[in-house]
Amino acid sequence: MPDPQKNQADADFQRLDAVVIGAGFAGLYALYRLRDVLGLDVRVYETGDGVGGTWYWNRYPGARCDSESFYYSYSFSEELEQEWEWTSKYPEQPEILSYLNHVADRFDLRRDIRLATKVASATFDETQGLWDVRTEHGERVLCQFVITAVGCLSAANVPDIPGRDSFEGDWYHTGAWPKEGVDFSGKRVGLIGTGSTGIQATPEIAAQAEHLTVFQRTPNFTVPARNAKLSPEQWAEIKQNYRAIRKKTRETHAGFPYTPTQRSALAVSDEERQAIYEQLWEEGGFKFMWGSFSDIMVDRDANHTAAEFIRSKIREMVDDPEVAEKLCPTDHPYGSKRPPIDTNYYVTFNRDNVTLVDIKESPIVEITPKGVRTQDGEYELDTIVFATGFDAMTGSLLRIDICGAGGVPLAEKWEAGPRTYLGLQIAGFPNLFTITGPGSPSVLLNMPVAIEQHVDWISGCIEHMRERGLTRIEASEEAEDAWVEHVNEVAKQTLFYEAKSWYLGANVPGKPRVFMPYVAGQPLYRERCEAVAKAGYEGFELSA
Ligand code: NAP
Repeated sequence: MPDPQKNQADADFQRLDAVVIGAGFAGLYALYRLRDVLGLDVRVYETGDGVGGTWYWNRYPGARCDSESFYYSYSFSEELEQEWEWTSKYPEQPEILSYLNHVADRFDLRRDIRLATKVASATFDETQGLWDVRTEHGERVLCQFVITAVGCLSAANVPDIPGRDSFEGDWYHTGAWPKEGVDFSGKRVGLIGTGSTGIQATPEIAAQAEHLTVFQRTPNFTVPARNAKLSPEQWAEIKQNYRAIRKKTRETHAGFPYTPTQRSALAVSDEERQAIYEQLWEEGGFKFMWGSFSDIMVDRDANHTAAEFIRSKIREMVDDPEVAEKLCPTDHPYGSKRPPIDTNYYVTFNRDNVTLVDIKESPIVEITPKGVRTQDGEYELDTIVFATGFDAMTGSLLRIDICGAGGVPLAEKWEAGPRTYLGLQIAGFPNLFTITGPGSPSVLLNMPVAIEQHVDWISGCIEHMRERGLTRIEASEEAEDAWVEHVNEVAKQTLFYEAKSWYLGANVPGKPRVFMPYVAGQPLYRERCEAVAKAGYEGFELSA
C-alpha cells in the first residue's frame, strides 16, 4: 500500500545549500559562518525545543563548566567578547545556556533554526549529488552539504539493568534532565556513576536529599575546581587581553591559555614536586594536569606521582579510612579517563546522609520496584539518578540513519569502530562534514576551540570549492586508512590506552574498542589540517 504521508513528503521538499544538525556551540557557529560569512542557504535542525546542545540537556544539579568561562566561549566576535561577562570562573549550566541564547539572538540565528525537530535520516543521492535529509516530522530538504554538529556527548547511556522498568519511584539520566528540575527534599536517592557528572551532582544532591547512596563502579581522580566570582578588575584585565588569551588557546596542546611546562615530574626533587602539586591543588582546575609536568600522560612513573598525590589528599579529606580507600582509584593512570574537577566531592562522603556502595565489590544485580539490589542486599530508594555517561562520539551520529554513496549505512561502515579522515570527513560520504568527529582532538581539547577550528576549516573548504566550481568533496579511502592508523598509533604511545574509558568505547557494552579522539594535541593537528588545505585538500577527492 502506498503511504500517502510519505508520498507527500517525497513531493514536498526544499532545496538548500546546507543542513546543519544540532544547535549547540557547534551548530550555532556553523550557521553564523556558513550563512553570514559565506552567504549559503542554511537550515539547522535541533531535537531540543531550545538552542544550547549539551547545555540545554544537562540540567542536573551541580552542572557547570569545568573549563574557565573566559576561554570556554566563542572567540569569533570581538564585540560579543566585550559585551558578555561571566559571573564566575566556572559558570553554572543556566548561565552558559543564557550565553548561547544570547548568541542566537545577537546574530539573528533563530530564523534558520527548526527547534524540536529531529533529523531522522540523511541519504546521499548519487544521481543528483545531493543529500536528502528527512526529519521525524516529515520535512524534507535536498542540499549539497550536511554538517553534523551533534556533540560528542549527547547520546545518553542508560544501562540496561534487569528490572529497570519495574522501579516504582522516579528515575532520570543526567543528560536528559527535566526542565522543571527535580526536588530531592525528603527523598532517598540512589546515584549510579562517578564520572565528571556524578562528581558534580553528588554534593548538590546530598545537600538536599534525605539520604544519598552513591553506587560507584570505578573511583575517579578529581581535583578541586576552586570556583570564584570574577571581579570587575579581573574582567577589565581579561577583556584587555582577550586577543593574547585566544592566541594561546589555539597554540597549546589542549586549548587552554596556560603556558605549557617542559619539566618532567621525575627531574625534580620530591620536595619540589610536592610543592608544585600543592600549589596547583590550591589553585584548582585542569592546570593540575596540564600545567604540572609534561610527562604525566606519557610516563607511568611520572603519572604515579600525580596519582599518589591525589590519593593522599583523598585520605586526608575523608574521615572514614575504609570509605577513603574505596574512593582511591587504583586501576587506571590519572588522566587516562577524562579528569573531572569538583566542588566538595570527597568531603561529601563525611556527611551522615551519604553512603558509598562499591559495586565492583558487590555488583548491582537488579533494580527492584523498591530500589537497587546488589549482591549484598537491597537499597530502598525513591529516586534513581543515572550519571552513567554517553555513547560517546559515535552514538549521536549513529542514532541518525545516515547512508552514503551506494546506499552504504554509516552503521555498516563503522561496524568495527569509527573511521574518518581528520575527524572531518568519512570516505564514501561525500559532502558530509563532522564537526569534532571521532579522529579529531575534540573532547581532549577545550571544546569551543576545537569547534571553531573545525567550522573555520569546513567553511574554508566550501569557499575553496565554490570559487573553483567544484561540487563534491570526499575523503579518499587511502587517506582515511592512514589517518585511522596514525590516530591509533599515537594513542598507544600514551597512558590513555590503559583505562577502560569512553574514549575507547569501553563504557558501552558491545561497542567496538577504538580510541576515538586524536591525542597528539592541537598544534600538530591544526598544522596538519592547514597543510592539507594548502595542498589543495590533499587526501580528499574533489570534483565538479
Ligand atoms: P562518564 O565519565 O562516562 O561516567 C559514567 C559513570 O557511570 C562511570 O563512573 C561509570 O563507571 C558509571 N557507569 C556506566 N555504566 C554503568 C553501569 N552499567 N553500572 C554502574 N556504573 C556504570 O560520564 P559522565 O560523568 O556523564 O561524563 C561524560 C563526559 O562528559 C565527561 O568525561 C566530560 O567530558 C563531560 N562532562 C563535562 C562536564 C563539564 O563540566 N564540562 C561535566 C560533566 C561531564 P566506570 O568508570 O566503571 O565505567
